[in-house]
Amino acid sequence: MATIYNFNPGPAVLPKSVLDRAQKEFQNYPGLGYSIMEASHRGKQVVQIFAETEKKLLSLMGLGDQYRALFLQGGATMQFIQIPMNFLGAGKKADYIDTGMWTSKAIKEGKRYGGVNVLFSGKDANYTALPDLKKLAYSPDAAYTWMCSNNTIFGTQYRELPDVKNPLISDMSSDILSKRLDFGRFGIIFAGAQKNLGPSGVTLVVIRKDLLDRCNPELPELLSYKGQAENDSMVNTPPVFGVYLMGLMLDWIAGEAGGLAAVEKRNEQKAGLLYGAIDGSQGFYKCPVVAKDRSLMNIVFTLPDEDKTALFVKEAEAAGFVNLKGHRSVGGIRASIYNAMPVEGCEKLAAFMAAFAKR
Ligand SMILES: *Cc1c(COP(=O)(O)O)cnc(C)c1O
Repeated sequence: MATIYNFNPGPAVLPKSVLDRAQKEFQNYPGLGYSIMEASHRGKQVVQIFAETEKKLLSLMGLGDQYRALFLQGGATMQFIQIPMNFLGAGKKADYIDTGMWTSKAIKEGKRYGGVNVLFSGKDANYTALPDLKKLAYSPDAAYTWMCSNNTIFGTQYRELPDVKNPLISDMSSDILSKRLDFGRFGIIFAGAQKNLGPSGVTLVVIRKDLLDRCNPELPELLSYKGQAENDSMVNTPPVFGVYLMGLMLDWIAGEAGGLAAVEKRNEQKAGLLYGAIDGSQGFYKCPVVAKDRSLMNIVFTLPDEDKTALFVKEAEAAGFVNLKGHRSVGGIRASIYNAMPVEGCEKLAAFMAAFAKR
């Protein structure tokens, strides 16, 4: 069977060595004698996995003990609700930068809990460009400023960060740990794990510790970041397998993948191959995103018409390049090339694109 390259936007490709290790340990976790999936979350091994995964994460991000990493459930979408639930409320407001479907959804949820000030919306331009962050009218009294660092559906990604005094919050579901970044600029970083960090079922929330004391004290422990932090993400039975696999992913990033700088270089190279194939196709492929905002993670492009798009998807699949169809709301093609997509997958897809355009 030919090699399959999985370009799914999420859940997404995982490194083979991570899957191999998980398989090897699946029935008998080292030192346990049975599967980690059968283990008590109050037991030594699981408690250790949680503590070590938190440590590895903060270390990869270059964050010290001013931060906590929490492993929660409900997906990134739950964070659209949980963040305003904790930090908004009557008489309070927050700034949001609307750059796509995921921020629109967050804005809709935020409005349930307090005032929402939309600083920018890319909607009229079909979300093909990001704002100039220096020109936005930030509210000095906002409880937080909300952004999405990589817009998975529209294929845009920031290359800069807003300079705000209030806590900066970023939905990093689709580009967390894909490049070096000054993570200390953020109050909260969150991500559903299923794009760049492991399987679905666990949501990472990295939160600056001083914010824990600003959480709404009326909330039940399960929904309060303070409550979750005090219980080391174990208010109730946590997503053990997801956190275990995230730990393996972090080992892979720090080890085999060569650390964040090497990961970043490879991601630039991979995206360069695909944008090169688009830009070198004499207009057969078109990327709707303005050049400076193009994502290194989700490469979106169109073909001249629907028939050619459908044929492209079909022939690509037959050649081993699967899950390339664009999001149902935008159509076209989307190649998601998270950390675990090898350079070779992008080289081969770029070659396929050139051959298809010629044909
Ligand atoms: C996939 C995605 C989400 C939704 O994640 P769930 O875990 O399914 O809730 C939110 N934000 C971004 C940027 C995403 O890519």
